[in-house]
Amino acid sequence: MTSALVKRLEGKVAVITGGASGIGECTARLFSQHGAKVVVADIQDERGRSVCDTIGATFVHCDVTKESDVQKAIDTAVTGHGKLDIMFNNAGIIDAGKPITDTALSDFHKVIDVIVTGAFLGTKHAARVMVPAGRGSIISTASVASVIGGVGTHAYTAAKHAVAGLTRSAAVELGRFGVRVNCVSPYAVATRLAVEFARIDEKVFEEAMSKFATLQGTLLKPEDVAMAVLYLASDESKYVSGHNLMVDGGYSIVNRALL
Ligand code: NAD
Repeated sequence: MTSALVKRLEGKVAVITGGASGIGECTARLFSQHGAKVVVADIQDERGRSVCDTIGATFVHCDVTKESDVQKAIDTAVTGHGKLDIMFNNAGIIDAGKPITDTALSDFHKVIDVIVTGAFLGTKHAARVMVPAGRGSIISTASVASVIGGVGTHAYTAAKHAVAGLTRSAAVELGRFGVRVNCVSPYAVATRLAVEFARIDEKVFEEAMSKFATLQGTLLKPEDVAMAVLYLASDESKYVSGHNLMVDGGYSIVNRALL
C-alpha cells in the first residue's frame, strides 16, 4: 500500500535563485510537490520558464548581482502570493580552475559577486518582507568549499566561506524576529556548474565523478541536496538556525591518512 505524500510546505511561498537548473531546479520541483508556491529567479530565461511551466511556478528574470532584480523577484512572490516564507539563495558559478597567480582580478570578482553579493541581496530583501511578518526561513547554498580548500577554486572557496559567515551573522540578527537563516553545503554533484569546472563532456564527467564518491561509495545527486533544503525550509527545523548543514556523505570530516 502506498501512503499519500505528506506535503511539508503546504501554503508556503518560496523564491529560489538559480532555479533553472541543477540543485535549484530539483529543489523547485520538490518544493512544488510539497505544496509550496514557487518563484524561480534566474538569468536563464528559456530554461527557467520551461521548468516553471512543468511545475506551475512563476519565472522571473533575475541577475542576483543586481539589487533591483532581486527586489523584483521577491516582490513577485509577495504580489502574486501575498507573502514570502522561504528564500533559497542558490545561484552560483565557479572559477576556471587556474592557479592563483593566473587568476584575473575581474574573474575573482565575478565569482564573489554572484555567490556573496547574491546571498547578501537575497537575505537582505527576504528579511525586508519576513521581519514585519515575524517568520521566515532563509537558506543559502554554500559548499564543502565553505569549510575546506580546493585547487584552482580560490574565489569559489573564499565566497562559500563568506556565505557561511553571512548565514551566521544574519541568523544572529534576525532570530528575534522569527526568521531562521541556514546554509547547506553539498559535496560534488554532477550539474552544469561541475561539468563546466571540469571542462569535459557530461558522459566522461559522470565517469570522472566516481572519484568524488562519498564515504558511502556513491555519488551525491541534486535530490539529496534538495531534501536537506526541504528540511531547513519546513517547520520541522523550527529551532535550527545559523547552521551549515553538510550534505557531503561525511567527506569534509575525514582524516584521509587513516582510510
Ligand atoms: P547549475 O549550473 O546547474 O546551477 C546554477 C544556476 O545558477 C543556473 O541555473 C544559473 O543560470 C544560475 N545563475 C548563475 N549566475 C546567476 C546570476 N548572476 N543570477 C541568477 N542566476 C544565476 O549548478 P548547481 O551545481 O546546481 O549550482 C547550484 C549551487 O550549488 C551553486 O551555488 C553552487 O556553488 C552550489 N554547489 C554545487 C556543487 C556541485 O558540485 N555541483 C557542490 C557544492 C555547491
